[in-house]
Amino acid sequence: MDTDTISAISTPVGEGAIAIVRLSGPEAVSLANGMFQGKDLNQVDTHTIHYGKLLDPKTNEMVEEVMVSVMRAPKTFTREDIVEINCHGGLVSVNRVLELTLSQGARLAEPGEFTKRAFLNGRIDLSQAEAVMDLIRAKTDRAMNVALKQMDGRLSHLIQKLRQELLEVLAQVEVNIDYPEYDDVEEMTNELMIQNTRQVHQEIERLLRTAKQGKILREGLGTAIVGRPNVGKSSLMNALVHENKAIVTEIPGTTRDVIEEYVNVRGVPLRLIDTAGIRETEDLVEKIGVERSRQVLQEADLILLVLNNGDTITQEDKKLFEAVEGMDVIVIVNKTDLPQQIDMDELREVAGDHPIVSTSLIEEQGIDQLETSISDIFFEGDIDTGDMTYLSNVRHVQLLNQAKETLEDAMDGMNAGMPIDMVQIDVTRTWELLGEIVGDTVQESLIDQLFSQFCLGK
Ligand code: GDP
Ligand code: ZN
Repeated sequence: MDTDTISAISTPVGEGAIAIVRLSGPEAVSLANGMFQGKDLNQVDTHTIHYGKLLDPKTNEMVEEVMVSVMRAPKTFTREDIVEINCHGGLVSVNRVLELTLSQGARLAEPGEFTKRAFLNGRIDLSQAEAVMDLIRAKTDRAMNVALKQMDGRLSHLIQKLRQELLEVLAQVEVNIDYPEYDDVEEMTNELMIQNTRQVHQEIERLLRTAKQGKILREGLGTAIVGRPNVGKSSLMNALVHENKAIVTEIPGTTRDVIEEYVNVRGVPLRLIDTAGIRETEDLVEKIGVERSRQVLQEADLILLVLNNGDTITQEDKKLFEAVEGMDVIVIVNKTDLPQQIDMDELREVAGDHPIVSTSLIEEQGIDQLETSISDIFFEGDIDTGDMTYLSNVRHVQLLNQAKETLEDAMDGMNAGMPIDMVQIDVTRTWELLGEIVGDTVQESLIDQLFSQFCLGK
């Protein structure tokens, strides 16, 4: 158990009129009190806020005018004592306050450490903790909604429901083991078991199907714009960035801060791949060669392949089509303001199933249809996005995939009439894997729960 007191700036660094330095841990209040002039914070009620001055105890110099909130355990986010120091938003001022707390004995919090404490202290479960992280990184309203729902415990509830159903299966297994002499009991419970297991399996599969959307909401739809020189790639990029708010994000918590560019198209975050490449070298394929551009393409979830309406289809165009075979592609015929040279029948043949959109980027035509095309590809018809529980976390996807497999082993076993205790092992394993998602798989609780729901007269 962590018992030290941690401190960090908990508001985004940058402008902002107010910034907050947050302390959490057993010494939070006394530590803040040691540098606060105005009131004795050790004496104030919990969940109250106080105006005063921060003094550097070494020099007795005033550092800042502040508002200090005192929140005592356990009704806090971390379930520890929390003090929040509200100070002026400037970088210098907030850093000075942070440094002061460190010099007084607080430890600089690691990324996510407040949330980790909330989890360790039982305030939230693991999937909710992960949702807090997602929320911080959310790039669109939709991604934010997914994270909010997860934080709200939707995924947890669903997982717990599935685990409960598995416990019922295990209860039926127990009946079978305890009363092997009654054939009809065995038959009945077998049937119930298979039915319940199948239901859980279906739910897991359904959840896994949402993983693709979840990943995209979380990481953005990796999008590459390709095409011959001069067809309008840069113009397309600019149009997308211009029409939709571009979001440049730095991903915190990595040693090397990756800068990525996102545009939000109807709630779908596009992560524009190698945009620098396109912007600076202009002609991806020509400059970096076909091999390298294949690599770039492999990273992409979506290809925007641009052609020139004022030109015939060339060998180079056809090579590009070959390079993106099997991928999600939207074909864009640009420069429709120019006299048409492109052979549309030929294009339809080359393009196969890929949707074709015509644009005149110079006249700002066709961008709407392009955006419709993009959101169609993402939502694949009419998924109800408002009310879905998306899987948006790699760890959850892995665990669910494993759970699905062990459950399939169990079902195979049941169908093949395997000894019931073999089936029991697989179902128990599935139950544990699901438990890892919410972070509370403990053998003991399996025993307790089994016991509590298992009266059957003994
Ligand atoms: P890239 O080399 O594929 O990135 O193409 P650019 O976006 O740099 O555009 C090349 C040239 O085509 C520029 O002079 C653009 O102004 C022009 N251009 C782009 N879109 C259109 C369009 O829809 N119609 C016409 N007539 N010209 C366009
Ligand atoms: Zn260009």
